Amino acid sequence: MSDFMKQLPVFEPGHVWLVGAGPGDPGLLTLHGMNAIKQAEIIVYDALVNDEILGLASESVELHFAGKRGGKPSPKQKDITLKLVEFARQNKRVLRLKGGDPFVFGRGGEEALALSENNIPFRIIPGISAGIGGLAYAGIPVTHRDINHSVTFLTGHDANGVVPSAVKWKCVSNGSPVIVMYMAMKHWSNIRGKLLEHGRGEDEPVAFVCEATTPNQRVLVTTLGESLTDLESSGIEPPAIVVVGKAVNLRNQLEWLSKVSR
Ligand code: SAH
Repeated sequence: MSDFMKQLPVFEPGHVWLVGAGPGDPGLLTLHGMNAIKQAEIIVYDALVNDEILGLASESVELHFAGKRGGKPSPKQKDITLKLVEFARQNKRVLRLKGGDPFVFGRGGEEALALSENNIPFRIIPGISAGIGGLAYAGIPVTHRDINHSVTFLTGHDANGVVPSAVKWKCVSNGSPVIVMYMAMKHWSNIRGKLLEHGRGEDEPVAFVCEATTPNQRVLVTTLGESLTDLESSGIEPPAIVVVGKAVNLRNQLEWLSKVSR
């Protein structure tokens, strides 16, 4: 074993580590993430965290599910945060495991602020976000020198579950050649309308990448104009990343996943 593997940080009792599990494929977990999972005594995890990743934990680990289950409402963010603080005060090694990257549309910032306010020592372990790694598994690079020098990541939901009013759709439509959207399926009709209204063309390429990096990954490539009908007939369901822009066309050449063994 290399020295680096032996020198990974020790999980102190009473600390909370906020860890990104990546988009699904367990191979996309970081070494820091794996080191955290192996030492954790309590894991508070979200719905989008892969079971195989949880399987890396010790046999004695206590698992707490903090996501939506069977149509029941998800636990309140405040309750999750309180739990983290409470477990840390019980002097446990507490791992908060989140899908993708904890600081990308994952409320990791809110949780870290609460830990800071309660003087709980914490560590942040970034993960591969679905809007980057998930697209790579679909053969779609989020940047390419010939296509875009900027990229916008946005969420299709605000805290109230509606399309965020703070998004300046005109600026995004005009200024961002590639737009990567999280949680955008539910309000797709509305979002599509805003992009068309502010100057994106009917023929603008769009891809929906569903359950990216998992064995159930599905990709629908369409255009802004056709996307509503194509989406309906495809039966594609969330979780999905929606990407708008010419980067989508690169998938014709860069789709690699179907050509390799997993
Ligand atoms: N922190 C996460 C995002 C959490 S928000 C990250 O960095 O990836 C949840 C949204 O992320 C989902 O609604 C979906 O839009 C997207 N998402 C997460 N995992 C995904 C996956 N494997 N495939 C497609 N979309 C995914």
